Amino acid sequence: MSVIKDVIDKVKRMDPDQPEFHQAVEEVLETLEPTVKRHPEFVKANIYERIVEPERTIIFRVPWEDDRGNVRVNRGYRVQFNNAIGPFKGGLRFHPSVNLGIIKFLGFEQIFKNALTTLPMGGGKGGSDFDPKGKSDREVMRFCQSFMRELFRYVGAEVDVPAGDIGVGAREIGYLFGYYKKIRNEHTGVLTGKALEYGGSLIRPEATGYGCVYFAAEMLATRGLDFKNKIVAVSGSGNVAQYIVEKVNQLGGKVISLGDSSATVIDEKGIDAGKLDFVLELKNIRRGRVKEYADKYKTLYVEGKNIWEVIRDQGIRVDIALPSATENEIDGDCARALVRNGCICVAEGANMPSTPDAIKVFQDEKILYGPGKAANAGGVATSGLEMSQNSLKLYWTREEVDDRLLIIMKNIHRACIETAAEYGKKGDYAVGANIAGFTRVARAMLAYGVV
Ligand code: NAP
Repeated sequence: MSVIKDVIDKVKRMDPDQPEFHQAVEEVLETLEPTVKRHPEFVKANIYERIVEPERTIIFRVPWEDDRGNVRVNRGYRVQFNNAIGPFKGGLRFHPSVNLGIIKFLGFEQIFKNALTTLPMGGGKGGSDFDPKGKSDREVMRFCQSFMRELFRYVGAEVDVPAGDIGVGAREIGYLFGYYKKIRNEHTGVLTGKALEYGGSLIRPEATGYGCVYFAAEMLATRGLDFKNKIVAVSGSGNVAQYIVEKVNQLGGKVISLGDSSATVIDEKGIDAGKLDFVLELKNIRRGRVKEYADKYKTLYVEGKNIWEVIRDQGIRVDIALPSATENEIDGDCARALVRNGCICVAEGANMPSTPDAIKVFQDEKILYGPGKAANAGGVATSGLEMSQNSLKLYWTREEVDDRLLIIMKNIHRACIETAAEYGKKGDYAVGANIAGFTRVARAMLAYGVV
C-alpha cells in the first residue's frame, strides 16, 4: 500500500465525522504521490503523516449576553496546524455551519497557501458557530470580547496571528483587537485585517479579490487572453467578491452576478462602479440582502440557487468563473454546465468551492483551473505585508502594497507552472500549487528533526 493511501485511510479512520477535512487531505495528498519517489527523506521522516495532524487544537466555550439579557453559548475553535515556516496564520470564520472538520480543512489548506506566498507564515484557522447575521453591533461586540477572553492565551504577534474570513470583517476584527489590547496591555500585530487607524495595511481589504483577478489574468495570458470584454460570473457578495468586481471592471471585463446565502442576482448589463458602491454600502454598512440590488436595478433574481445552478438551469453564457462564497458550491453538473456555456477559466476566490467531481471536469476539459490555495493567496500574502509593516512600525503606500501583491501573485503563478512541469504535469495548477507549497514546509520540518 502506498504511503499516501495509508495516511488518507488513517485520517478517515481517526476522524470519521470530518468530511470536509477528508476532502482537503485527499485533494492535496493525491497530488503529492510523485514527491514520495523523489524525496525518500520525507517518507523516512514520516512527513506525510505528521503534516495532516495539527500541532494543537483548541476548543472553548464562548458565553455571551444578547440584547434581551439572555445568556447564550457558542463554541470557539483555533486549530494551530503547522508553524514550520512561521507563526500560525489564518482567518477566523463566524458562521453557523462551523465545526471542527471545517476549521481543520481550512487550516490544512492554509499551510500550503501560506508557503506559496514565500512569506514566513505557518498555517492555522479558527472561528465559531456564532452567526453575526441579524445580531446588533453590541451583541457582536460582546461575542467577540468573550471569544478573545479565551483566545488571547494562545495567540500573539510571534505565535499565532488570526485574521478575518466569512462573517469576520473590519467590525469584528476591531472588537477582537480592542479586547486583546485591553487585557494584554500591548499594541502589537496580533491580528491582521485591522483598520488603517490602528495598524492595518492599505490594500488588505482589496487583496484577496484583487489577487484572485491578478492570478486569473496570469492564467489567461498563458493562452494569449485577457479580461477585456470577458463575461465573468462571481458568487457571494462579501469581501472577496466585492473586490473581484472592482478589479475585473478595471481590467475591462464585465461581472454579471453576485449572490448571498439566500439568492443570486444576474445583471447582464454588468455590475459597474456605481452599482458596486451600492453593494458595498448594502453589504458592509446596512448588512442587507442582495434582493435589494435586484429590486433597485430591476435584474433577474433567483432565490435558493447559486449562480452555478442558475447557469446549469438557464444556460447563461460565461467566459470566466470566480467562485467567492463558500466550499463545495460548484458540483460536477454545474461544472459541466459552465464548460458547455463557454467558460474557459475558473479561479477560486473561495476556499475549496469546487467539489472533486467539478475539478475533474475542469481538468478533463482542459480549461484553466486555479485552485483556491494559489488563486486566493493574495489575502494572506497582504496580511503578511501587514505583519511586516507592524514589525517595522511604518506604513507603506497603496501603490507599494499593491505592487508587492501583484509580484507575489505572479510568483505564485510561476511557481505553480514550473513545479507542475517539473513533475510532468504541465499546466496542472493544482499539482503545481500543492507540491510547491508542500516541499517548502516539508524541508523545514525535516530540518527540525522529530518535533
Ligand atoms: P464574507 O465577507 O463573509 O462573504 C461571504 C459571502 O459568501 C457572503 O455573500 C455570504 O452570504 C456568502 N456565503 C457564505 N456562506 C455561504 C453558504 N454556505 N452558502 C451560500 N453563500 C454563502 O466572506 P469572505 O471573506 O468574502 O470569504 C468568502 C470565501 O473566500 C470563503 O471561502 C473564505 O474562506 C475565502 N477567503 C477569504 C479571504 C479573505 O481575505 N477574506 C481570503 C482567502 C479566502 P451571506 O451574506 O448570506 O452570508
